[in-house]
Amino acid sequence: MQNPENTRIRRGKRVAALSLALGLGLSGVAAVPAIGVGNGPNDNGHESVNTSILRTYDQLVAELKKLDAKQSAMELEVIGQTVKGRDIHLVKYISNPDNPTILYLTQQHGNEQLTTEGAMDFIKALGTGKMKGVLDNVNIMLIPMFNADGAMGDVNFSLDHYVAKGDRHLTRYNANEVDLNRDHVAKVEPETKALHNNVLAKYDIDYLIDLHHQGPNSEVDGKLVSGSILYPTSPNADAEVVEGSKRLGSVVNDAISAKGWGHLGKYNGGTAETIGRNGIASQYGISTLLFEMRGMSDHANRNYVLGQKSNGYLIKQTFTTLESTARAIADGSIETADTSFWDTLPYQQTRR
Ligand SMILES: [Zn+2]
Repeated sequence: MQNPENTRIRRGKRVAALSLALGLGLSGVAAVPAIGVGNGPNDNGHESVNTSILRTYDQLVAELKKLDAKQSAMELEVIGQTVKGRDIHLVKYISNPDNPTILYLTQQHGNEQLTTEGAMDFIKALGTGKMKGVLDNVNIMLIPMFNADGAMGDVNFSLDHYVAKGDRHLTRYNANEVDLNRDHVAKVEPETKALHNNVLAKYDIDYLIDLHHQGPNSEVDGKLVSGSILYPTSPNADAEVVEGSKRLGSVVNDAISAKGWGHLGKYNGGTAETIGRNGIASQYGISTLLFEMRGMSDHANRNYVLGQKSNGYLIKQTFTTLESTARAIADGSIETADTSFWDTLPYQQTRR
């Protein structure tokens, strides 16, 4: 019988060596080969949860500055600071103020980082010929790693009991142990203030995708989901705004379902206005979509964490989500997206 402790150490080392070997030019995480959604929890791959392969805040900022210098269409704006004084960056591609505008928000919850990794790949792609012409007809804004203090584990409470190995722990909360995605009405925290005052109230935004991760054991039709999506469910959200959200979801569903690893469900979300998906839709008339991808990067509870062998397809899932929606808004096809799939998309269930 194998000693599970040894297995953990060995695999951890191998992955660390792999990411080192991939070097700095490539995004180490993105280069991990994509693997399909697993058949079962399989210990959720705990043996290979190591946070050292995830970008640090400093690495992310250095990359953003480099890309800003290289990409003429890109602008980098600091919209405020976290509790611990980290600059929060807004990445902007605004070619024409009259264009429809989409904002992508990642890592409100600091322990949900693969969304940020995918967003960084997308920002890189926007500077290449791959996305040629798209930026003429859509304004794209991104806030990667919104909750930077939580992402770096630089918080005013202990994370010693968190399960991931590596250089740091990542937590859902900001440094004051507040859940930022429950602060969209009171706006008490500096991060939420920055987002509302300096982005949502300032720019004319039509669409927003709020990117998250959930536990790894949600399923639809007996198969684990790669993620689940939901439109605003607050009674205060305007029907037209919700319809726009459903069209956004339709584009995402078509793009993800076409992938071998893609399997989506409908997320069970509440009606509270304090949640971004709801509060932002009703306060600003922005069509919002929540995307809850599979598995978290770290957590106090092992059952929420997913091993990094799934990183490849989850990062691609973010990239595909961003690319497909940007293209559909740019070419206008989002206007005729079929929303009827929402009537038959099953709610995800937790696998027992
Ligand atoms: Zn979340």
